[in-house]
Amino acid sequence: MEYYNEDIETLQREELDALVDDNIRYTVRYAYENSPFYRKWFDKTGVSPSDVKNHEDLRELPIISGSVIREKQPPETKDFEFKSSSWADVFTIHETSGTSGVPKSFFLTWDDWERYAEKYARAFVSQNFGPGDRVVVCASYGMNVGANTMTFGAHKMGMSIIPEGKCTFPVRIINNYKPTGIVGSVFKLLRLAKRLELEGITPQESSIERLIAGGESFSEESRSYLEEVWGVPVYNTYGSTEGTMCGECTKKLGLHVPEDMVHLDVYNPNLENFVNDGECGRIVLTTLLPPGGKTGNLLINYDTDDTTVVVSREKCKCGRTHMRIMNPQREAETVFVGGFPFNRVDVEQGVFQRENMEYLTGEYEAFLYGDDEETTLRVRMECKNAPDCDRDTIEDNFIKSFLKYKPGLLQAHIDGTFNIIFDFPEPEGLEFYKIKGRPKRLVDRR
Ligand SMILES: [Zn+2]
Repeated sequence: MEYYNEDIETLQREELDALVDDNIRYTVRYAYENSPFYRKWFDKTGVSPSDVKNHEDLRELPIISGSVIREKQPPETKDFEFKSSSWADVFTIHETSGTSGVPKSFFLTWDDWERYAEKYARAFVSQNFGPGDRVVVCASYGMNVGANTMTFGAHKMGMSIIPEGKCTFPVRIINNYKPTGIVGSVFKLLRLAKRLELEGITPQESSIERLIAGGESFSEESRSYLEEVWGVPVYNTYGSTEGTMCGECTKKLGLHVPEDMVHLDVYNPNLENFVNDGECGRIVLTTLLPPGGKTGNLLINYDTDDTTVVVSREKCKCGRTHMRIMNPQREAETVFVGGFPFNRVDVEQGVFQRENMEYLTGEYEAFLYGDDEETTLRVRMECKNAPDCDRDTIEDNFIKSFLKYKPGLLQAHIDGTFNIIFDFPEPEGLEFYKIKGRPKRLVDRR
């Protein structure tokens, strides 16, 4: 199987843009007719849904942040104002919790499930999965839609799923069913490899032929290390309850955005206008419906709090024409030192320098201390065996890589207003091991 939906996935740019604009017009009319929030907005502003003719016109509509959604759902309002279908058409109800802790409600119709599943089916096929493949899903089955819609996507393209829900499954699963792929986060897949080795299975010699990494952004360095540990290619996916689901094809030239089903704009930091392709900005999403389609929760211009760069809208070497984006990063994981930004992924890149991995497990955490005058970044990297750790080499590699493309931070480092210090704890010696839940790897303690 080369494509899941060849006609759509290889549509020429001009035709694809025309299809997107058709879908935008239908979606905006659907919003006016079915979403209390948009009905009120159009009536209040006097803008007519028919004024929105193409994707440029979406700039006339408001940008919706997570807090707007929370303000437009009970108990703040009587109804769920972004819910955009009747209760009879709602198939599943989800909640996504952000950093504020107050969950956002999200409603999906069966139509939505079909479209989400097709997005994953396209991604799986673009990663060379097909009938006969058996894939362990380590993403959790629950209020997050990812694992469930991946499973349904696998059904569409005829692949078997082993729905474990976490990466701590027994080794028996590998021995008995000989899975050909695993979906999980980079760190879960690294830990799994270590556990297999302890149980006498060499990951490179296992039945696994490829891995899918998702759930959080990662550096190219940690991906290549994971590829080395397993001896197979690792492909990236980016998904959300709001319906992003972008997947990297085997050419690894960015993640393909299924443009006919989700519209992705990249905005400048003030959310005033689009940035040019090749420039970094915030991901703003719009669900796209095909004429006649229904959706349970319509968001137009949804601010994801993630940042990316459009790599290209040209045809990819894989034959697909849909645009490609760089691995998105979470805005919440970006910090500023003396006005200069860096992301958790930049720290990760410094850790995973190839030479360092002779001594490190890859697990790390970093803390920022200080004030406006002087800031200290404390990086803690777990050693395979602390006494043997070549600290000077690791520190040197980290600093070189971390400051390489950050002239502002480099200058601050030279001036002594930005210090970087290191700790090399024994296995299980990092602070986050003592805290439940997903590790927070970059903590600002200023
Ligand atoms: Zn491609």
